[in-house]
Amino acid sequence: MMVVKPKIREFFCTTAHPAGIFVNIKKMVEFVKSKKKELKKENTLIIGCSTGYGLSCRIVSAFLKKSPTVGVMFEKPPKLNRTATAGWYNTAAFEKFAQEENVYNKTINGDAFSEETIEKTINIIKKDLKKIDLIIYSLAAPRRKMPNGTIVSSVLKPVGKPYINKTLNLETNEVFNVKIEPATEEEIENTVKVMGGENLEDWVNKLKDADVLEKGCKIISFSYEGPTITHQIYKDGTIGYAKKHLLKTTEKINEKFKDINAFVSYNKALVTQSSAAIPVVPLYLTILYKVMKEENLHEGCIEQMFRLFTEKLEENKNIEKNNVIRLDDYEMLPKIQERVKYAWEKINSSNLKEFADLKGYYEDFLNMFGFAIKNINYEEETETLININNIIN
Ligand code: NAD
Repeated sequence: MMVVKPKIREFFCTTAHPAGIFVNIKKMVEFVKSKKKELKKENTLIIGCSTGYGLSCRIVSAFLKKSPTVGVMFEKPPKLNRTATAGWYNTAAFEKFAQEENVYNKTINGDAFSEETIEKTINIIKKDLKKIDLIIYSLAAPRRKMPNGTIVSSVLKPVGKPYINKTLNLETNEVFNVKIEPATEEEIENTVKVMGGENLEDWVNKLKDADVLEKGCKIISFSYEGPTITHQIYKDGTIGYAKKHLLKTTEKINEKFKDINAFVSYNKALVTQSSAAIPVVPLYLTILYKVMKEENLHEGCIEQMFRLFTEKLEENKNIEKNNVIRLDDYEMLPKIQERVKYAWEKINSSNLKEFADLKGYYEDFLNMFGFAIKNINYEEETETLININNIIN
């Protein structure tokens, strides 16, 4: 037991509050269960299952579709004097609700880039589920250990020329101009190695060799495009290079395996552990949140993933010919982007509140780690040594 307070370092919180996280997951489970929709049960593998989009996919899969899920994550368990990572507690809470509903789930805590993790996953599938119908690839990693042991890191930088734009200092709430120097060739290559499609291709080849993919198996990985304001740092930046590689990989998979259907879903920009780290993006997010909330079109990860499984995959809406799914359809509506552009031009440190939903941004940020949740007394000690039962380390 210990008192847990947020310890924020730039764009990350190094502590997590398990009781707060439990409330978060409960809310998401209840949201999904309130939807009266019948969807086909599918054996689902989620690579990157513990936070953000992957976690929401798992919740929709388990509580709407009643689907068995095998999840892969890279999280730290609790220690006597240190809390676990948020993804650990998310998974512990998910497991508890899944057990109440009698929905199968197993979680592998290991490096998704390693042979060992892929092997462990294959063994679990063979033993318990036999075949997989759907793979969600929702990995967001800062680095990758290559098979020869070297570590390569991904960077969030522009390509070709420096990027100068407004950004938000999350500690002082000041808007200022930031200049980000362009990436080197090596940094671009490394970002592609970490966030491109190589790892997904490796997974698919190995799962196919092991004969654990059902005929017609779907694969969905996630990408982002966004408006011109962020293109230099995202779509045309190092991460954009990686996302283009991911798209090419899905095309390659579709060509190579006629019985697999791989998609890329372009999702909405949202506060997650990964997006908070991208320069300029948090300011864009605060403006976007304000506009989308005022237009009654705001969604979180869970609403996005609900729409992915219902409107997109079930009803086939907005799926383009090359298997690209547009879940950013609301974000990219002209009426939203015109207002965002107007606000972006006007915004400065003194009028921040007029144009940006700072409160919503910080709430979402703190909520991810189990903080700023109603009815949780953060002065009280809370149990932090929480196990995950169905875990394979
Ligand atoms: P996130 O940081 O919330 O989740 C990342 C997941 O990957 C976690 O489950 C984590 O445990 C897992 N992970 C990281 N490194 C790993 C490793 N080495 N081995 C195994 N698991 C590992 O990220 P997110 O924002 O939900 O992003 C998921 C995907 O969605 C990414 O491809 C991202 O680019 C994309 N996306 C995000 C946004 C956004 O605004 N957040 C928008 C569009 C697309």
